[in-house]
Amino acid sequence: MQDQATTPDATLRAMQAIVGERACLSGDTDTQAYVTDYRRIYHGRARVVVMPSSTEQVSRVLQWCYANNVPVVPQGGNTSLMGGAVPDDSGTAVVVNLSRMNRVLAIDTINDTMTVQAGVTLSAARSAAEAEQRLFPLRIGSEGSCQIGGNLSTNAGGTAVLRYGNMRDLVLGIEAVLPDGRIYSSQRGLRKDNTGYDLKHLFIGAEGTLGIITGAVLKLMPQPRSSAVAFVAVDSPAAAVRLLGEAKHLSGQAVTAFELISQPALELVLEYLGNVAAPLPARHDWMVLIELTSGTDAESLNATLMEILESGFEQKLVVDAAVAASLSDAQTFWRIREEISDAQTRTGGSIKCDVSVPLSRIAAFVEEASAKVLALEPAARMVIYGHMGDGNVHFNPLRPKDQTAKAFLAQWYEPISSLVDAMAHAENGSISAEHGIGVVKRDDLTRYKSAVELELMWQVKQALDPRNLLNPGKVLPARGH
Ligand SMILES: Cc1cc2nc3c(=O)[nH]c(=O)nc-3n(C[C@H](O)[C@H](O)[C@H](O)COP(=O)(O)OP(=O)(O)OC[C@H]3O[C@@H](n4cnc5c(N)ncnc54)[C@H](O)[C@@H]3O)c2cc1C
Repeated sequence: MQDQATTPDATLRAMQAIVGERACLSGDTDTQAYVTDYRRIYHGRARVVVMPSSTEQVSRVLQWCYANNVPVVPQGGNTSLMGGAVPDDSGTAVVVNLSRMNRVLAIDTINDTMTVQAGVTLSAARSAAEAEQRLFPLRIGSEGSCQIGGNLSTNAGGTAVLRYGNMRDLVLGIEAVLPDGRIYSSQRGLRKDNTGYDLKHLFIGAEGTLGIITGAVLKLMPQPRSSAVAFVAVDSPAAAVRLLGEAKHLSGQAVTAFELISQPALELVLEYLGNVAAPLPARHDWMVLIELTSGTDAESLNATLMEILESGFEQKLVVDAAVAASLSDAQTFWRIREEISDAQTRTGGSIKCDVSVPLSRIAAFVEEASAKVLALEPAARMVIYGHMGDGNVHFNPLRPKDQTAKAFLAQWYEPISSLVDAMAHAENGSISAEHGIGVVKRDDLTRYKSAVELELMWQVKQALDPRNLLNPGKVLPARGH
């Protein structure tokens, strides 16, 4: 029999008493958007969706859930591609959605830091920095919806990692509420602090399994004064890697993005966008989008870009190139890159592998893994794109044109993604470079993490969340699996 204190009605009343009636949603219809993941693959149920407006409210919500053994699913913008931000279908969990904690609290232009609540969207954080002539450099396609708390919890990457690092590199301190309601804070904006374990890193990349991040102190960078962008056809993935080396050598720190795009990825996105022309006149198997940024003037940065391309032509790495002549050209090139993800969603039938290997092995990996997938499914469209400069590609075979999504996706885990993941692992790579584990990759960890790593993960979980109430069923495979 269900404990009277934790019936759905009693839970709703308890949550309403903490955050107010209007900040609580219940019932399948009202909670629908919060229990379905971005890709519409996972459909769960929630006892209540609660939207606190302060750290103190989050703390009281967690205290109540802890006392009553009620599981909690933290949620930011719900753009996770791994099913991590939605509850299971038991209907027992409280979803804590951070959207109302959306204030930029302070910007310190001397310390070059910004203090935010966790529910600030990435685009709002970037705009707030820009208003102070600063850059918050994290750049991902979901920036209008995803939140800083979600970015921290997934250690988000994106297209500027090559230059600025991922979310872990961009934060100086966080505030998080522990499963029992206690509040941890390291929000002091220090660049140096060697006073024992740096506990903030436990919560970064934990995907909401250890606590709820409620605030952060983020690093700000100088706004670049100029940028130069080119869409470049390369001879092969190996040529792309050599071109990146040349670009780094000739430009110093200026290479900000170096994104690979395969021909099927370009064809798909152009079809999806409808009114956007291909940047290059001919068809090419492999292309890269290169962006340089710097604090110098545009003229000298453009000269550097031209030098890189000329060197690439001379060494037969570059086959053709279009240099953005205006801001509008640059935006179009970037739009093509950013919309590949949505073009796949719209088409349906895309098997997502988000892998990384050492940069020195990425070209061989792309070629060999493509050949193996095509041997299994010769008409698959090899949508391969992403952050080659970080050794990370989104390796997403798409259904053949004459096959249904359902038939193609039946091969998702076996044989396709297990093949790709095993190949990445054999190259000392990762089966999830930036999207995290969620539920999609949870059980794969038993294959790819050592027994010691898994045991340490469980011990950390046990220490911070002994009742296994925070995002249960996510990230960690069952013990002794
Ligand atoms: C079009 C598109 C492009 C994308 N491109 C990239 C990309 O280039 N690079 C990249 O890394 N990702 C990318 N993503 C994935 C996704 O946007 C990121 O993982 C993002 O960081 C998730 O943020 P969110 O606020 O939406 O988090 P959610 O999806 O709400 O949650 C993600 C995880 O974090 C937990 N969580 C959320 N908020 C908190 C909190 N405050 N405290 C504790 N736990 C929390 C959730 O429980 C869940 O496990 C993309 C997604 C889309 C749809």
